[in-house]
Amino acid sequence: MHKTFFRYGTAAMILFSLCFSTLAQSKGFDTKRMDTSTNACDDFFQYANGTWLRTTEIPASESRWGSFNILANNNNSMLKEILEEAAKKRSAKGSDAQLIGDFYSSCMNEAAINKARLKPVRPFLRGIDKIKTATDLERQLAVLHNAGLPAVFGFGAGPDLKNSNNVIANAGQGGLTLPNRDYYTGDDAKSVETRAKFVEYMTNMFKLLGDKPDVAAANAKTVLDMQTRLALASLTPVERRNPDNTYNKVSLAAAKEMMPNFSWDLYLVDRSVPTFTEINIAPPKFFAEVNTMLKDVPVESWKTYLRWMVINSAAPALSKPFVDENFNFFNKYLRGQKEQQPRWKICVGAVDNNLGEALGMEFSKKAFTPAAKARMNELIDNLMAALKDRINGLEWMSAETKVQAQAKLATFKRKIGYPDVLRGYKGLTINRKSYAMNNLNTNRFQVRRNFEDLGKPRDKTRWGFSPPTVNASYSSVNNDITFPAGILQPPFFNFEADDAINYGGIGGVIGHEITHGFDDQGSRYDADGNLKMWWTDADRKNFDERTSCVIKQFDGYEVQPGLFINGKLTLGENIGDFAGLTVSYDALMRSMAGKPRPANIDGFTPEQRFFLGWAQVWGAKSTAEAERVQVKSDPHSAARWRVNGPLSNMPQFARAFGCKEGQAMVRKDACSIW
Ligand SMILES: [Zn+2]
Repeated sequence: MHKTFFRYGTAAMILFSLCFSTLAQSKGFDTKRMDTSTNACDDFFQYANGTWLRTTEIPASESRWGSFNILANNNNSMLKEILEEAAKKRSAKGSDAQLIGDFYSSCMNEAAINKARLKPVRPFLRGIDKIKTATDLERQLAVLHNAGLPAVFGFGAGPDLKNSNNVIANAGQGGLTLPNRDYYTGDDAKSVETRAKFVEYMTNMFKLLGDKPDVAAANAKTVLDMQTRLALASLTPVERRNPDNTYNKVSLAAAKEMMPNFSWDLYLVDRSVPTFTEINIAPPKFFAEVNTMLKDVPVESWKTYLRWMVINSAAPALSKPFVDENFNFFNKYLRGQKEQQPRWKICVGAVDNNLGEALGMEFSKKAFTPAAKARMNELIDNLMAALKDRINGLEWMSAETKVQAQAKLATFKRKIGYPDVLRGYKGLTINRKSYAMNNLNTNRFQVRRNFEDLGKPRDKTRWGFSPPTVNASYSSVNNDITFPAGILQPPFFNFEADDAINYGGIGGVIGHEITHGFDDQGSRYDADGNLKMWWTDADRKNFDERTSCVIKQFDGYEVQPGLFINGKLTLGENIGDFAGLTVSYDALMRSMAGKPRPANIDGFTPEQRFFLGWAQVWGAKSTAEAERVQVKSDPHSAARWRVNGPLSNMPQFARAFGCKEGQAMVRKDACSIW
């Protein structure tokens, strides 16, 4: 229900201050990046970025490197200054400056972190150790969940997808450590290898907890077996794209009947959850399996599983041996990142993750202006107008469905820069003593605050991003688009550059987010953000036929030998790119109409610059490992195909570069949707 423009490969999205040339800021694109020996009509991504790709090495502390990272890197340098300044001062307790300064200090104090070793998680481990009965197990699960430590399943307050003004209880699948259920079920050589490495990682961690080598190895095997059972009962990433599969609202009494081996009463009391009567519990087959496992998995195995879940989540905030093992598996093995990031970058990321609003407001003061907001509003207006025209002109859609589509478009809301309504952190305690405790305190604070929403009207002013984030999103339950201050910087958004570049950059991003409201998922929600079919059957059938063209197109892209993009998993994002660029291109044409034609720059027409703007935003490279994780678990296609995929469907592109039938960038069976 919340879709982004881009997903970072790792939780730590912090970047490296190597001096890579940023895009030439005056014109917004950089001819030095290009490889003009490649024909634009054969491989436009290569044409626009080839020299950069050939001469750039991914920094050792990164698994992916490109325009996004370079921009995030600039943002991070500003955040570092803000944090170092806050850390120097003694500010009033509970003030934003105190919270972010002390959180950062505690993270930077590696000596204290190493000295504490396991101390911060000892209370959890002791609690698990004392488990004797199924009831003890449930109570301990509630203790973990209260501290924001994941295990078995997820539970919290969230929107009712069919009545988006209401906040209801939600219970969903969870309890895994690998990126998704396919990692447990795949029988190809790479999946088998990944599970062997995972067992090795777990064994090392159990040894660090003090288990003898043979016990540690047996424990790792126990966890893998249990997680495999949970995985087999889980939805695949593709199945999760269909909201009908994740919606199963029942009465609390019915949820109790679904799980006779689990005491919801006890769990809800232990979690201090406000009273409620309805719960979305999905998928049912997952909770049925949890119910069975509670009966047939021995308590000793459950204890091993919970110990694992605690130590794995807490590892990045514990002493060096835990940090290193965690890094070696998730970053080095799984994503091909050679070195850990410098400490300050890890700590900037940690403060942004935990106290994003407090840190982000300081950032926004420095990096975001009212003029930028006004310019964004104008661009969004132009794109909305272009999409409105496009919907009117669709030949395959009936007048009846068009009325609904226009109603939805007309009610789009926007969030630009930073939140208008700040929530603050009243009641949160942060000090300089313990980084791990600061993490746990923030988790507990967020968990409690989330429960306070239960049963209240949903607050649609909330933000899902911190302001410095280099990303954008569409929310189907809010029917709104969000552009944090972090992405409203060059190369996406460039006051100095000409219009064509901005329409190809931030215009493409805006178009992408708006058209998420009309992709395979978003189009299932109506103007009020409710999951409800507003299409006629015939129109929906036409739409599905058109989107299956895009599925087939992307299924055909081979990222590495034998590794193909998953057309169904990436469908929504691919529609967003394709339709978003189409709409943004229309908007650029409208902005040029009736005015003297803008001059060529470096020999490129405005139409060509539009496409160069998009292609250079996506100039990026990944390690082979990170690319594999992306293909297996990320709904966004790899960078090269986010450029070549949509553009090869667009006659506008072929016209701009004089591409002919038969060339790779002119698809014979070009798709057409919006
Ligand atoms: Zn997206």
